Amino acid sequence: MQVPLLDLKLQYQSFKAELLPLLESICESQAFILGPQVTALEAAVAKYSDCEFGIGVSSGTDALLLALMGLDVGPGDEVITSPYTFFATGGTIARAGARPVYLDIEPSTYNLSPVAVQRFVEESCEVRDGVLVNRATGGRIRALMPVHLYGQCADMKPLLEIAKRHGLAVIEDAAQAIGSEYAGARAGSFGAVGCFSFFPSKNLGAFGDAGLCTARDPELAEKLRVLRVHGGKPKYYHSMIGGNFRIDELQAAVLNVKLKHLDGWTEGRQRNAAIYRELFERAGLASTVTLPYEMPNSRHIYNQFVIRAPERDRLKTHLAEAGVGTEIYYPVPLHLQQCFAYLGMKSGDCPESERAARETLALPVYGELTRGQLEHVVDSIARFYRAG
Ligand SMILES: *Cc1c(COP(=O)(O)O)cnc(C)c1O
Repeated sequence: MQVPLLDLKLQYQSFKAELLPLLESICESQAFILGPQVTALEAAVAKYSDCEFGIGVSSGTDALLLALMGLDVGPGDEVITSPYTFFATGGTIARAGARPVYLDIEPSTYNLSPVAVQRFVEESCEVRDGVLVNRATGGRIRALMPVHLYGQCADMKPLLEIAKRHGLAVIEDAAQAIGSEYAGARAGSFGAVGCFSFFPSKNLGAFGDAGLCTARDPELAEKLRVLRVHGGKPKYYHSMIGGNFRIDELQAAVLNVKLKHLDGWTEGRQRNAAIYRELFERAGLASTVTLPYEMPNSRHIYNQFVIRAPERDRLKTHLAEAGVGTEIYYPVPLHLQQCFAYLGMKSGDCPESERAARETLALPVYGELTRGQLEHVVDSIARFYRAG
């Protein structure tokens, strides 16, 4: 039996008949840039995410970069984030000219630890002229960029309190978390800007690259809109330097059609996560592998179903031989990436992130999987640990 990590072909069949005529009408119109599909998508995703405004962009990475540019984060500034994430989180901070400050995660949720942030602010920073400054570097701490990893929100309440107390902007990396909830509110609605990715493997995936920023403040939303088109307003008159961060009309059309199905697909992922819990329990594996922790008062959308597993690398090979696709998200935490060596961080600086990088493994969880496929995954894991 084959159980790929992700297979979108079946999902495509469920909306193909609705989508193809729409794509054809756009092709007939030959109007591909910032048209009615983009406007509709921006309104729909903003509403879905409890936000006032949506700004469609070219990718999740560009959403993050645009958010940093919109908040004027640049040289001399520092942004606190998690090192246990996809590269774009830290990469965009550096590309904006700022310095990433990598602080450790909570081992249960894999998200940025409010305790670590609080400790850093208390022990390593001081207030100079009303601005929070990193004592070691002299840099201004300007923003917090929590990541809602695997589809579960970071612990936003204490993070927002710290941000408010110290005047930090909050940018949410919600790339994996469209529709996730925390204390009754949705991912993307907590900070100044929420950044979403529509990369094909995300819960709401385009047919290529696309992304979106959410915002609540009308002035900031307008600034993001202008920066998206090179900072020109009116066209060809530039008071700011932006970029080409546009989403295109065809991708927006795909996303408008798919968004209507998203809650159903999310339910499929949640159902599969629940079946995994039952199967792991029944196989007597509940104390061998660590299953994903769901925070109370939250909605986990299971972009990934990630376990901690002893002898992770050997298990991954064993599962590949059994026809089960898995992935390691992520094998090297950002503070240990070669390109960030200039930060001077070393192994042991973020121990929980480093341990997660050694122990975690993502299993297939997409909604179209059958119970038989899920049983095959768990049986294969049981066989691995029985063999020793
Ligand atoms: C996917 C992802 C991004 C980047 O999104 P792209 O659309 O691939 O540019 C950023 N952050 C996280 C956590 C992601 O998972």
